[in-house]
Amino acid sequence: MERMEEVKREAQEIMGAFQVLPRLVVFDLDYTVWPFYCECRSKHDTPYLYPDVKGILNALKHQNIDLAIASKSPTPQIATTYLDKLNIRSMFVAEEIFYSWTNKIDHFQKIHSKTGVPFNSMLFFDDDDNNIQGVSKMGVTSILVRNGVNLGAFREGLAKFSQNWNAPKNKQKRRK
Ligand SMILES: [Mg+2]
Repeated sequence: MERMEEVKREAQEIMGAFQVLPRLVVFDLDYTVWPFYCECRSKHDTPYLYPDVKGILNALKHQNIDLAIASKSPTPQIATTYLDKLNIRSMFVAEEIFYSWTNKIDHFQKIHSKTGVPFNSMLFFDDDDNNIQGVSKMGVTSILVRNGVNLGAFREGLAKFSQNWNAPKNKQKRRK
């Protein structure tokens, strides 16, 4: 619990350093918020998150930034059971967990139609580079994580988000 508060405080400090923040942050599940494939486990197991995840989710919530899930897990029942057990399921405004051959393009179309948030106001974390490539082509700032979401990846994500936001191409688009 103490770790959670510490990470939350640090994540809030990181956010405070940026003038623009995303409106919605989207997370993959397997190897992004937890260090396993939930399809390889039983729903009766006790799940656990990467150590920084809960603090970061709480900091985002505190800042009124919406959260969503985009997962290609073939076992959505196990995934949602784990989210319930971890007490974080209610934190997400959209929960897209289904298998698809696309690089999560379908997931993001659905998230966009449910939330109304434009792609360039979203930030996305995933451990699969194919998803990162596909989704960044839609205009979403996308960050590849190697050891799950942690404060380092969070800072990198916010930095890249504000870089993209201030890119001349994006500024022009917003002026229209
Ligand atoms: Mg994954």
